Amino acid sequence: MKTEIIKIVGSPADESNKHALDRAGELIRSGELVAFPTETVYGLGANGLDAIASKKIYEAKGRPSDNPLILHVANREMIDTIASDVSPLAEKIIASFCPGPITLILPKKATVPDGITGGLMTVGVRMPDNDFCRALIKSAGVPIAAPSANISGRPSPTNAEAVYRDMKGKIPLILDAGPCKFGVESTIVALDENETITILRPGAVTREMLLEICENVRLDPAMSGTQCENIRPMAPGMKYRHYAPKAPLTLIEPQALEIDAIMKILRHEIKKSEAAHKKIGIIVSDEIAAMAKDERLVPREYVVSYGKRGDLKNIAARLYDSLRFFDDTDASQLLAEATTRKGLGLAIMNRLMKASGGNVIC
Ligand code: AMP
Ligand code: MG
Repeated sequence: MKTEIIKIVGSPADESNKHALDRAGELIRSGELVAFPTETVYGLGANGLDAIASKKIYEAKGRPSDNPLILHVANREMIDTIASDVSPLAEKIIASFCPGPITLILPKKATVPDGITGGLMTVGVRMPDNDFCRALIKSAGVPIAAPSANISGRPSPTNAEAVYRDMKGKIPLILDAGPCKFGVESTIVALDENETITILRPGAVTREMLLEICENVRLDPAMSGTQCENIRPMAPGMKYRHYAPKAPLTLIEPQALEIDAIMKILRHEIKKSEAAHKKIGIIVSDEIAAMAKDERLVPREYVVSYGKRGDLKNIAARLYDSLRFFDDTDASQLLAEATTRKGLGLAIMNRLMKASGGNVIC
């Protein structure tokens, strides 16, 4: 199958985008897959009410069938077509953060096929804050089931080129609207009758932001572990190794993230890996990158910077590209610098922990 990429710029209402959105909507309606931009990462979409179409997503990604898909809606009304109950707390979250990078787990209606929810009685619902994405959903006329548009286990794509690398020949169309705003997947929340929000996956709607509208916000206990060995995560997808570059990755997270401590671990690990004849790539902040280059710890082309320390928005946006950077090189061991776990840092560190398979040096 030939994979076409259509660039979309400006506004969905522009005449120049009409053809692309009509075509993409028609493909979705007729049971095909389309990759499209959202404000978090690129999605791989299918008609969310069509079990056979959605099955194609699992095939294209190599995704385990027990890992449910999120349904993307264009507006509040569409939620009522797939969720059987929207509690007052859910309404509050929708009013505060939608459209935006948050997914609500809600009781599902019978219209949602079991194949999409991995047999669960609940459905993940998200209203993306991306005009093209919502225009596409409107054009398709159905909720769009979509996970990230990468091969399962790999870093999520935050631009059309990364989608093409993983999906070339497997899908007919990629809509290319440039890089995604946030770069990490949505925050997933489950709600219970005690007015408690449980974060199943951290994202750009942070715990701190949720605490502003609800007193009780907790993290799924499975998230604090490194590999979720003993505790079953509430989001089935969180149990898999994920976001992983091709070479093994070790995360460097000394107490308080002091620069001296990071450099000390870097020097030691690089020496150790070089003795084992490994080529090392490092994924670090601007500050550490500059010092590593000055000291010639590794050749310059084996240093990737994900942005300034503490600039979490920028780090999140560049994270997956940084993780993919060494895939086309001969680097056989990667070392990455940890960020804070506060605010958006919780999402960044959740992805880095998974990418490392829990391999952390403190
Ligand atoms: P992805 O679309 O690849 O970013 O992953 C979607 C995430 O949402 C996975 O971790 C799923 O397990 C999770 N998810 C989707 N639907 C549900 C649901 N009904 N209950 C719990 N988790 C869900
Ligand atoms: Mg994914």
